[in-house]
Amino acid sequence: MPSARGKFSKNFKLGFTFILEKCKIRVRQLRKVLDLLVHTAQCRSAKCQYTNCSKVKGLFQHGIHCKISATGGCVLCKKMWYLLQLHARGCKESECHVPRCRFMDPFYYHQSLADFAPFPVL
Ligand SMILES: [Zn+2]
Ligand SMILES: [Zn+2]
Ligand SMILES: [Zn+2]
Repeated sequence: MPSARGKFSKNFKLGFTFILEKCKIRVRQLRKVLDLLVHTAQCRSAKCQYTNCSKVKGLFQHGIHCKISATGGCVLCKKMWYLLQLHARGCKESECHVPRCRFMDPFYYHQSLADFAPFPVL
């Protein structure tokens, strides 16, 4: 006869495994997006093979022309900054093409990541 306590710990374990799996998927997705970011920064092809390349290109364009900006509360800009920041932290490239990679604004470096949208919709 299974005790109530046994059932609880089993559910807890299942929940924990679920969270771990979810994290793993997110890290994998994030890595893909960061790879895409590096690609898009130097992509000159109008008909690129990457499905999401044009979306990231659009995001870069938006960042250049946006009048609201991340500080003004623009969601798209915040997403872009979040990605650029993540990239810049892990980037070892001395001649990186990613916008602002070598000159990351200290303001964004110190801002809490919790203020940014957790993941871009690509
Ligand atoms: Zn491309
Ligand atoms: Zn914007
Ligand atoms: Zn870089």
